[in-house]
Amino acid sequence: MKEIFLCSICNINSGTCNEDCKFCSQSVRYKADIQRYKQKPMDEIIKEAKTARDNGALGFCLVTADKGITDKTLEFVCSIAKILTKDVPQLRLIACNGTATLEQLMTLKEAGIKAYNHNLETSESFYPQICTTHPWSERYSTCQNVNKAGLVLISGGIFGLGETQEDRISMLTSLASLNPVSVPINFYHHNEALELEPNPLSVDEALNLIKLTKESIPHAKRIMVAGGRELMFGERQSEIFAYGANSIVIGNYLTTTGRVMSKDLDMLQSLNLKVAKTVK
Ligand code: SF4
Repeated sequence: MKEIFLCSICNINSGTCNEDCKFCSQSVRYKADIQRYKQKPMDEIIKEAKTARDNGALGFCLVTADKGITDKTLEFVCSIAKILTKDVPQLRLIACNGTATLEQLMTLKEAGIKAYNHNLETSESFYPQICTTHPWSERYSTCQNVNKAGLVLISGGIFGLGETQEDRISMLTSLASLNPVSVPINFYHHNEALELEPNPLSVDEALNLIKLTKESIPHAKRIMVAGGRELMFGERQSEIFAYGANSIVIGNYLTTTGRVMSKDLDMLQSLNLKVAKTVK
């Protein structure tokens, strides 16, 4: 029976980023109507981790909204990692804190972080149209650093930004060259405060992009459908597994609300899909 890996994300700071990524409501530039805070209280993070575990999640991702890791962020993420390793040992801890040096990644690893998520987002040539404050090459180098640090690399991107099919293929080729273990794919969730046009993809096109991702990165253990799942696929979201997805994010996303976790568990059960209990 096919196993589905569940992951939960925890936004440990929100809406504080100075970068100008045009798809991101966490940039301070666009004044999107989202919750903004500097640091989520530790007891709340522990509570979220326990809820994720109790609902079958194996991955728990500590996300910060910033271009890269500051000393303060590094210290905070390490302190959370140490506590969660002890209190919720069933979870595999993932960090997603932007561009990072090899040294910073080694520090996270020593604190108990097992995997690092850093997405390429889109193709190298389209990237300057969606972000002008940092180059795509920095994203690629951070992914290389993750591999050098011996952390598990989680890297993917976002579809529906106005990119061409050629851009999508180019991004997937770049991702394949990095050998990610897990590839999270997101579908742009439009917010009126952002300049980008709404996601133009149809459900069938989006399903085929899952298939293309799987075919383009055959060695990845997991193809994860992450942000935008509910909005992109609606009533047809159970079809994503037939197109190659074997991982999903459960619960809320960074700035948008997901389905209640039990609905996703019911969906998996109705499809005769098993929730993965161990990381393979
Ligand atoms: S660097 Fe990350 S948090 Fe900042 S605007 Fe870009 S995508 Fe959003």
